[in-house]
Amino acid sequence: MAGCAAALAAHRGGAAEITVFERAAGQLADRGVGLAMHNDRYAELESAGYVDAEMPWLQLSRRCWYVKNGSAPLGRRIGVLPFPFRTYNWGPLWHELRDRVPKSAEFRNGATVTGVEADPDGVEVTTASGSERFDLVIGADGYRSAVRTAAFAEVRPEYAGYLAWRGAFPAERLMAPELWPDEDCVYAVFPGGHTIIYRIPDGKGGLRINWVLYTAPPPDLDLRFDNPTSLPPGTLAETLHTRLAHIADTQLAPYWGQLVRTTTAEELFVQPMYDFTAPHYASGRLVLAGDAATVARPHTGGGAVKALQDATTLEARLTSAPDWETALRTYDESRAATGRSMVELGRQLGLGLVQETPDWSTMDQRGLEKWWQQADGSGGFGGRRLTS
Ligand SMILES: Cc1cc2nc3c(=O)[nH]c(=O)nc-3n(C[C@H](O)[C@H](O)[C@H](O)COP(=O)(O)OP(=O)(O)OC[C@H]3O[C@@H](n4cnc5c(N)ncnc54)[C@H](O)[C@@H]3O)c2cc1C
Repeated sequence: MAGCAAALAAHRGGAAEITVFERAAGQLADRGVGLAMHNDRYAELESAGYVDAEMPWLQLSRRCWYVKNGSAPLGRRIGVLPFPFRTYNWGPLWHELRDRVPKSAEFRNGATVTGVEADPDGVEVTTASGSERFDLVIGADGYRSAVRTAAFAEVRPEYAGYLAWRGAFPAERLMAPELWPDEDCVYAVFPGGHTIIYRIPDGKGGLRINWVLYTAPPPDLDLRFDNPTSLPPGTLAETLHTRLAHIADTQLAPYWGQLVRTTTAEELFVQPMYDFTAPHYASGRLVLAGDAATVARPHTGGGAVKALQDATTLEARLTSAPDWETALRTYDESRAATGRSMVELGRQLGLGLVQETPDWSTMDQRGLEKWWQQADGSGGFGGRRLTS
């Protein structure tokens, strides 16, 4: 997403020739999983011309918090908080952004960047086809960014100590859908973790059920997460399957546990949680955007928003600054501060929602409101406001 948006930003910012290198061959596969975008952040990005209502979305309005309570199907409802978010399916959202990449830009699929070397006059980019020189390189290449490594080799994603199990499946497979209104996002909380559950568009007029369960892996698990990685569908280690099934059966109320168990192995991912932020968003002729620059834990609900905001800010700076050096310096000042604050927020929410969970069993609506106010602190949930 950051790559498509950055190409649009560079085009609008006056770049005459743009090349996008994308490692994935062909079209990026539809991952079928979801993300949520705060209504206010959507409005800012829409007025900047990066998203619009053509992208299939589902409007949600509230977050219902449930804790297991004996055999009660949904559990006990702790309370309800507002949730003014649109939900999206990653695949269709990416396709819409891809369509915004200007026709004049050259989009190269299956082109893995293996080397990035910057000098005062330009940047050498190496792929299997050889090396090419560019005036400027925007690294929108995700959390294992080659561009970030070239600029800030010392920055390493830090493992947070827990995993996200993630799944999505067609809504037709959901049992008793009438128990759970379409506009409700659910937080099914338990000691040491939680599951966030909401519906997303399938991009073909229907809906999918999307969920993410966060908790620590079993302590005896012989998997190392020091090197950033994710485990795609079908490769889930047996112990991780067993752990997920155990949590679904013992920690989630029957309805939410059954929902998680409805997901097939081919529909499951496991993503170890990492976070980091680069010290700067620009260094000489290298620029960073999206997850390449900063990964905040997904509890912030703002990673995609942050990636798109990076692009809109880059465009604004390129079009208003007297020269590209000033544009990049002011881009860095603005976005690095946001990146740092989102990482902080993600850590704070990670503590409250996973690592040091409160006693959910005794919490009520008032307690929930008070707890959330403390956890969210400066109110960055869903992403920071886009400053002009
Ligand atoms: C469990 C989970 C839930 C989330 N929920 C939300 C949410 O509700 N709301 C929200 O806003 N965000 C959410 N996010 C965050 C959001 O998904 C990411 O922040 C966002 O997708 C990052 O986009 P990106 O384009 O920066 O990086 P990526 O999506 O990682 O894209 C990087 C691209 O670069 C390519 N690439 C990498 N290396 C190379 C190379 N060497 N050469 C060529 N190409 C390369 C890759 O193929 C890829 O296409 C969530 C994240 C997770 C893990």
